[in-house]
Amino acid sequence: MKRLIHFGATLLTMLAAASAVQAQAKPLAAGDVQKVYERLLKQIDQIPIYDNHSHATFPDDSDMDAMASPPDASTVLRLRDTNPEFVAAAKALFGYPYDDFKPEHAKWLIDKKKAVEAAGGTAYWDSILDKMNIETCLSNRVALAPYLDPKRFHWVFFVDSFLFPFDNHDQSAKNGDMGVYIPLQEKVLRRYMKQAGVNGLPADLAGYEAFVRQTLADNQKKGGAAMKFEAAYFRTLYFRDPPREKAEAIYSKYHAGGVPSEEDYRTFQDYIFRVLIDQAGKLKLPVHFHSAVGIGDYFGLRNGNPLNLENVLRDPRYSQVKFVLIHGGYPYTLDMIWLTAAKNVYTDSSLVGYYVYPSELKNILKQWISLYPEKIMFASDAFPFNDAVGAEETFWLAVRSARTAVAAALAELVAEGAFPEGKALELARLYLHDNAAKLYGDMK
Ligand SMILES: [Zn+2]
Repeated sequence: MKRLIHFGATLLTMLAAASAVQAQAKPLAAGDVQKVYERLLKQIDQIPIYDNHSHATFPDDSDMDAMASPPDASTVLRLRDTNPEFVAAAKALFGYPYDDFKPEHAKWLIDKKKAVEAAGGTAYWDSILDKMNIETCLSNRVALAPYLDPKRFHWVFFVDSFLFPFDNHDQSAKNGDMGVYIPLQEKVLRRYMKQAGVNGLPADLAGYEAFVRQTLADNQKKGGAAMKFEAAYFRTLYFRDPPREKAEAIYSKYHAGGVPSEEDYRTFQDYIFRVLIDQAGKLKLPVHFHSAVGIGDYFGLRNGNPLNLENVLRDPRYSQVKFVLIHGGYPYTLDMIWLTAAKNVYTDSSLVGYYVYPSELKNILKQWISLYPEKIMFASDAFPFNDAVGAEETFWLAVRSARTAVAAALAELVAEGAFPEGKALELARLYLHDNAAKLYGDMK
């Protein structure tokens, strides 16, 4: 009897050990990762995409962004005109018959795009989404475009202009980039004032706050799905919390003229920023931030570091505000995924998804999926580079990169024993579609 009990106990120990071996993930892949990858990719290609961030636009439409690229800004290797992947994109999308973009060849593509733009209607951009199996796409724009179907393209509008109501001479004079950016912010602010029927800046801070709040509500009614800060291009993402009286004094001193000191301007911006966030909470409007390296020659890596936002993201007053830190905080992608540990914080792989090649995007996604897979989203940051290589080709590059990279990240995790293939597909769906659909209320 004693022997039998002993035997039974040993058997149990052995069984426990065997199942522990099966359940324990390994640091190296066992089995054929390539085969798992191919199986997963076939199914991942079938998942409709919800694109969290794009600039779907024809290249001559100045409403595509509230900013513009400064001339001669440096470009990463993959985004230079010489990248053969853009030729592959044009071939896949349009049957482009050439192997380069020499002017006489690029003309073929430019003529084709100009013709569909002249023809009007929304069918063209719907068809571009269809070719890549993108179901819904957020579009960052100053105003909605008549050629984008509002059923497929949801509007994200810009709010940085509210941070620059005073005489901006000192701001524009900071460097060449600011010389390009600030006049464009002033233009957007004038546009919002016209939209609100406001003639000149309101006489007091209360009036200005009312104008800000009304414009956000108005844009939401027009179809705005989220509001967006590009603030990292203009200043630090660290926003202090000054008392209203301070902002009121600064407003009454400068609203009719005069150049504010750097400290006064920053204090005022810190205050208005909080009015914007508070109103976003009241309207249940998600808030997007540019949170990565940026274009231009003077982009401040330290200023743009998403960790600067921690005091805002973790502020209990804003616990109902959904914060979406776009571009994955690149290169601070590991800091970023830990910021998404907060229940109301999300991130996406836009920009980084075509800055780096899929092999590196795979590594980033593998880390993100391993930590907070419910908080990460695909996004293209599709953007026109020139008249030939348009948002169409960058959609393609971003989509192909992300589908292959997420398939590879998941294939490695499956082969390492982290979870089975069924779970991998579930996680791919979260990243490519479900997390965003849930966030914007398209899926309950
Ligand atoms: Zn963008």
